[in-house]
Amino acid sequence: MGSGTLEREKGMEALREVVARVWGYSEFRPLQAEAMLASLERRDALVVLATGGGKSLCYQAPALVRDGLTVVLSPLISLMQDQIAGLAESGVQAAMLTSAQELSEKREVFQRLRAGSLKLLFVSPERFVVPGFIEELAQLGLATLVVDEAHCISHWGHDFRPEYRRIGELRTLLPNVPIQAFTATATPQVRSDIVRQLGLREPEVLVGNFDRANLTYRFLPRAEEVEQVLSVIRRHPGEAGIVYCLRRTDVDELAPELARAGIRCLPYHAGLGAATREENQARFLAEEIEVIVATVAFGMGIDRPDVRFVVHAALPKGVEQFAQETGRAGRDGGPSECVMLYSGADYHGWRNLQERSHSDARASGVEIDPQEAERSLARLSEMYGFATSATCRHRFLVQHFGQEWNGGENCGACDVCLGELRAAADAQRVAQMILSCVVRCEQRYGAGHVADVLRGASTERIRAAGHDRLSTFGLLHERHPREIRHWIEQLVGLDHLRVAPGQYPTLSLTRTGVEVMKAQRDVQLYDLPVPPRSRRAAPARVVTTRRGKISFEPDGAGSGRTAVTSDGAEIELTVDATLFERLRNLRRRLARERGVPPYLIFGDRTLQELAALRPTTLDELRGIRGIGQAKLADLGPLFVAEIVSFRG
Ligand code: ADP
Ligand code: ZN
Repeated sequence: MGSGTLEREKGMEALREVVARVWGYSEFRPLQAEAMLASLERRDALVVLATGGGKSLCYQAPALVRDGLTVVLSPLISLMQDQIAGLAESGVQAAMLTSAQELSEKREVFQRLRAGSLKLLFVSPERFVVPGFIEELAQLGLATLVVDEAHCISHWGHDFRPEYRRIGELRTLLPNVPIQAFTATATPQVRSDIVRQLGLREPEVLVGNFDRANLTYRFLPRAEEVEQVLSVIRRHPGEAGIVYCLRRTDVDELAPELARAGIRCLPYHAGLGAATREENQARFLAEEIEVIVATVAFGMGIDRPDVRFVVHAALPKGVEQFAQETGRAGRDGGPSECVMLYSGADYHGWRNLQERSHSDARASGVEIDPQEAERSLARLSEMYGFATSATCRHRFLVQHFGQEWNGGENCGACDVCLGELRAAADAQRVAQMILSCVVRCEQRYGAGHVADVLRGASTERIRAAGHDRLSTFGLLHERHPREIRHWIEQLVGLDHLRVAPGQYPTLSLTRTGVEVMKAQRDVQLYDLPVPPRSRRAAPARVVTTRRGKISFEPDGAGSGRTAVTSDGAEIELTVDATLFERLRNLRRRLARERGVPPYLIFGDRTLQELAALRPTTLDELRGIRGIGQAKLADLGPLFVAEIVSFRG
């Protein structure tokens, strides 16, 4: 037992050394050390870490420490290319094998494998199951197998890939090679499916905290969409963001509007053609534009780690989708904002899309599982309920994924906890007025009409129906129509009002709605939220360096005063926004020259630390986060020269 402990300590030491030397990181993220040790100890493992949790390091670092070859199965070529390019920047040789490669390319990889010059090999799943391939790898000294995005093996996941299923056969072919599976999204059901499908033996199961503490969530009823989206973008000048729309036509309308307002943005959806899509994505990754306006077709394989905001211009399809799409913000751990604009109309938009796609499917002879149709409606309702509720967004998400919330009373990073939602005065009476107005309108009208009656509007429809003579006419005449709509949506979200499916979304009362109307049940409503005008309300950026803690003013990377404690002494430092911009430009230029995305050169955090500490010698660069040995030698002189010329 004593020697086991010793082994572990030695393993940890080797890992710490390689992580500092190659990547320039001085600390492990939660569960990284455990996952790496399990790997060194040749144990099977299932590691579930949230997006940005640092999964790749968990298998890359042990691969460099141990003898033999580590093979990583990964579903997307672009993801593999990114990792290989990133490793190359850090001075690590890695390669990939896919079915799409030229024969000569494959030959070259095999030569390097035989020469023993590769420790890491990325393989696409369909390449992996080519007969004879596994045996070949075994001869080449295969030491460990890693399955990335392991949820793709499960039918229960949201991203099932048939070619993943056959990976399960390898356990019998490779009884002695340990397998480690990684994923960001796994419900308990998917988790046990992964273990079973891969035949993992007594796996070390490591499940991280799903809470994305660096994300701030805000939900707003959609009113002036373009203005609302612009106000989010303007809180993040010069920073990267994604705006998700429901339909392609929404993308085609919104993108030019934003461009007219001076935002550097491009559209992305399946209707654009592969070449345009690829180009727009590449320009986003290369930092030539800040904003992508897209349908949910945009996402898989987007590894830009400094996405600072994600806007949903419409309700997402479900809570899982919401978590996944917002999860693309802040992968680098920096504070990021997720804003969702919603409206009852989106709920119907999705329902109609679904009904249409089902009737299309039926028309072409495809059976639709009625239970699946029901489940997707239930997911939509759940999302709508989430949107209109006023419970802490972080708490809700964590609990939704089956984890206990231990973030305390106030998460400090959602509209609810930041106090941006105010309880409506007189909610009970307002709810009663709305509900009884729905009844007076004979439960045959939609939210727009009911709101018009309540505010006493003189519309054609109201006069035609004689609704100007209803006792509820004009009861809420002093309130803004948007506000009335907002309350109606909350009553739908609370399940006191039901919206008819289909073309005419008429409102009717549920059983609990009747109880509220009769004052037999309490109800809580909220006024329209007041979003922050500037980013003052956003949490401060905090960057930790070897020399202590640097805190950033929340507005803009690098402006304002910062304090660094070094050996207990307080030093006043100014992070110069101009220098930060110059370093970003240098990064962009180098990336273009080398044909890699800028974030593979250095992350924003590294540039911020450079802009704060302003090192002018290579020695001073050492220990700055994200600068390993290879980058120190390769990029260090260029960045130091830039800083020296800046300081003049
Ligand atoms: P995931 O695949 O889990 O979403 P990544 O592996 O892409 O996350 O890592 C997210 C970011 O965090 C990357 O930029 C990575 O370099 C960085 N990172 C990972 N581990 C550490 C660490 N221990 N210290 C600092 N940064 C880290
Ligand atoms: Zn909260």
